[in-house]
Amino acid sequence: MSNIAPPTFESDATQGASHVLLPREVPLGGPRAMLVRRTLPHKVRRMIGPWCFVDHYGPATSVHMDVPPHPHTGLQTVSWLLSGQIRHNDNLGYEQLIEPGQLNLMTAGKAIAHAEVSLSEELHGIQLWVVLPDSARHQAPHFEHHGELPRFSKPGADVVVMMGELEGAVSPAATYSPMVGAEITLTGNSTTLQTKGDFEYGVLAITDNATVNGQAVPQHALIDLGTGHDSITIEATPGAKLLLIGGAHFEEEIVMWWNFIGRSHEEIEQMRRDWQAQNGYPEVKYPGTWLRAPELPNTRLKSRGA
Ligand code: MN
Repeated sequence: MSNIAPPTFESDATQGASHVLLPREVPLGGPRAMLVRRTLPHKVRRMIGPWCFVDHYGPATSVHMDVPPHPHTGLQTVSWLLSGQIRHNDNLGYEQLIEPGQLNLMTAGKAIAHAEVSLSEELHGIQLWVVLPDSARHQAPHFEHHGELPRFSKPGADVVVMMGELEGAVSPAATYSPMVGAEITLTGNSTTLQTKGDFEYGVLAITDNATVNGQAVPQHALIDLGTGHDSITIEATPGAKLLLIGGAHFEEEIVMWWNFIGRSHEEIEQMRRDWQAQNGYPEVKYPGTWLRAPELPNTRLKSRGA
């Protein structure tokens, strides 16, 4: 979840140019906040394809993720673990444990609320959001757990496709615009992935000493590659892990505030009012109270493209 307003964007990224996006540390959750490293949205780049939010946390021991019930609208939450266990509870009644290599995908559609609590001493994971296009954002919410995902090995790497498609491997997870999300584990010193020239791509360096298309990417940074790549070459050491995200440029202008994505200031105001009144939000199983939304800023929220 997001508990601060997105940064002000200095400029839109130039298509085709690559930028290394360094993370900023953000406290996540309520009073016992856990620090996460956020690389999207970033002041120089709002989205990569439909991916609009990337939080990376851990690896750490003796951390506790405990995010009380909070809402989402107009997006999908994509939860991916590298170590540990998290329990998801939502107001549709789904209770689901997630472990490394599995996908928890929550399609918020018009509105959903959930809580997330870690159950392990050690925790390492990534939470991402995908923006839903207008044609899909008013749908009823639903939740998917995928314990088995397409995996393939190729020279230099093992690949798990969690969302969308890569090199012909297609995830069973529901998607609403052309995209990919994949975990890459190097088995050699380099690998080359076949990609689509019309997709925007980004690569998150989960581990250190990575180079992507010849450019060094510090650990925890996200390289924004732009479009025009028929292949992406990753160099690192065996065991290195990276996350590839990409997709077709998201054409619609969106308004993103707190945990909501809408299309206008008024729509976000209404989403906030509905949450504060618990209007349309059945209860989430959780031993505590729900999170109240922060105050809206005094200025109007602006819609922005990617
Ligand atoms: Mn959430």
